[in-house]
Amino acid sequence: MKLRVRVDHKTYSALKEVEGEYREVLEDAINYGLSNETTSFTRIKAGIYKTEREKYKDLPSHFIYTACEDASERLDSFEKLKRRGRAYTEKPSVRKVTVHLDDHLWKFSLDTISISTKRSRILISPTFPKIFWRYYNKGWSIASEARFRLMKGNVVEFYVIFKRDVKPYEPKGFIPVDLNENSVSVLINSKPLLLETNTKITLGYEYRRKLTTTGKPTKDREVRRKLKRLRERDKKVDVRRKLAKLIVKEAFESRSAIVLEDLPGRTPEHMMKDVKDKQLRLRIYRSAFSSMKNAIIEKAREFGVPVLLVNPSHTSTVCPVHGTKIVYRPDGGDAPRVGVCGKGKERWHRDVVALYNLARRAGDVSPVPLGSKESHDPPTLSGWLRAKSLHSIMNEHKMIEMKV
Ligand SMILES: [Zn+2]
Repeated sequence: MKLRVRVDHKTYSALKEVEGEYREVLEDAINYGLSNETTSFTRIKAGIYKTEREKYKDLPSHFIYTACEDASERLDSFEKLKRRGRAYTEKPSVRKVTVHLDDHLWKFSLDTISISTKRSRILISPTFPKIFWRYYNKGWSIASEARFRLMKGNVVEFYVIFKRDVKPYEPKGFIPVDLNENSVSVLINSKPLLLETNTKITLGYEYRRKLTTTGKPTKDREVRRKLKRLRERDKKVDVRRKLAKLIVKEAFESRSAIVLEDLPGRTPEHMMKDVKDKQLRLRIYRSAFSSMKNAIIEKAREFGVPVLLVNPSHTSTVCPVHGTKIVYRPDGGDAPRVGVCGKGKERWHRDVVALYNLARRAGDVSPVPLGSKESHDPPTLSGWLRAKSLHSIMNEHKMIEMKV
């Protein structure tokens, strides 16, 4: 978050001095990284610290650290650009400098922010915008790293970063999440729930990109136009993030850990019928799977919800109690939903087995097979997008069931 402060001339020139030397250290650090072919902060710092310390004797030493970090970040993104063929210069150019600060170089208080300079600390007193208070009063804390940038007319732009102050907890239960082509299923208090999505949402952009490109390699322009339209739709509603939030919130409120497959182990045979090549099909599925997975992991980190990644092999074909094979006898349809355990003869619903196996591999020991006459499918929900929580969806569903 940006705070703009107008300061007096003395303060401004103290910061200007720091900025000048920081820029020089930054340039040296970038050059060192380039000539030693490294983007690593540690290596850059080890390489230049001594000489820079000699050169800028009264610059607080932590500015050398932060400049090295800055250099490492710039080199990293330059590498990425280069790989994509988007780098138009020989080396990352240092035009604008935003001075990075760590916890030694600045102190925050609501009255004044103090910043280390060459001779002493200077103080600035920003007025905080409304949005600042919104975060500040809602339990967010200010990160130890900050930045400033000098503008014309004695104006300092000071950047503070807010972060959620959450520690991961000891989980009291597990919420396994199984990602499928047209749904995401979760298990909450032994109740399975299928959240209907569609391919676009679960598997996302990568999936469609491959679909659109395979088969039509020559019609380049048409493909590109299609992709553009899809991407625009993607931006409008980030459904994947919404879904991740619902799941993470549920886990957070019940103090549960989320259990995910480490990588999809089941070759999605029934999926992607339009892609003929088996290898390609698996690759598409994997990369797409990870974008949904990453959305969940990111959200979980924000809430401090632990995420456990477990071995995904045979999750839908092995009995969660006995570890033996489940036999799905053909019961009329070509894809029977209910199977029988080879050892205990208890019955399992296909959509639920994977969830129990995920939970079990995370350390949970309470799989519940179907009753002897039960065969109902887990509730499938399509209207979750507007829901406030998974719990409210489940309650609503119960009401509908009762009416029927
Ligand atoms: Zn069994």
